[in-house]
Amino acid sequence: MISIARPSKPDGWDAKVTEAVKVLFAAHRADRSASLHFRESIYRSKEVRDAYIEAQNRKCAYCEHYIGDDHPGDVEHFRPKAGYKQDESNHSLISPGYFWLAYSWDNLLLSCWRCNNHKANWFPLVDPKKRAKPTQRNLSQEQPLLIDPTSVQPELHIRFREHVATPVNGSRHGSTTIEILDLNRTKRDGKNKNPVDRRKESYLRLQNDWTNWRKLQLLSTRRSDPELQEVIRSYQNQFRQAIHPSAEYSAMARDFLASVGFSNDRS
Ligand SMILES: [Zn+2]
Repeated sequence: MISIARPSKPDGWDAKVTEAVKVLFAAHRADRSASLHFRESIYRSKEVRDAYIEAQNRKCAYCEHYIGDDHPGDVEHFRPKAGYKQDESNHSLISPGYFWLAYSWDNLLLSCWRCNNHKANWFPLVDPKKRAKPTQRNLSQEQPLLIDPTSVQPELHIRFREHVATPVNGSRHGSTTIEILDLNRTKRDGKNKNPVDRRKESYLRLQNDWTNWRKLQLLSTRRSDPELQEVIRSYQNQFRQAIHPSAEYSAMARDFLASVGFSNDRS
């Protein structure tokens, strides 16, 4: 997971969704236990998808898996709209959820179906007593344990040891986020390659390239060879690309390359 700059809200977005939010409040007031009907055509519109695809470099906001390879990705609600669970072990959903945020631009992200499925309605807070309610919608009091990559720096809570996501200094936000999204999942998804296996392959490739680069560097101290210098430069470019926000699993690449002392200066 890496920090994401939320895309700009399209002109007229709030005006467009105001009526739809009023309908939800009216339905909730009429029957507090009713399941609410959400207008998918708003939050799953092409406008939303295109904006988030671009802002997130075509990657899942959580696991950095490329979206589109095996699934178009899900427009996901950071705060669950229909109901939530504080504990995963508690099977019953607590409702209502954050229905008033169903069309809130700042509550949307694009994720892969695996992260979205595993997260589902699991949305624990440090202090559940401070959870916002339809009548008291004060989100600033909440401290979600799931990391929102648009407002929290994920690397303060999650780092990678080889290809494995690991909480930083026992961070509760880190460990809970890893658990909610199952970031180290090992289960295969049908015929598709598991993202963790794919992340491991990416790690091993990077490690191998690094070993080769080190050998070539040593060689270059003993002989002057323009072609050798060219190969060394191309490896360096590869490393820079691997840590760029547009690269798949760039957080893992950053942690690996930082651990071996790779400097990203272009001198
Ligand atoms: Zn994902």
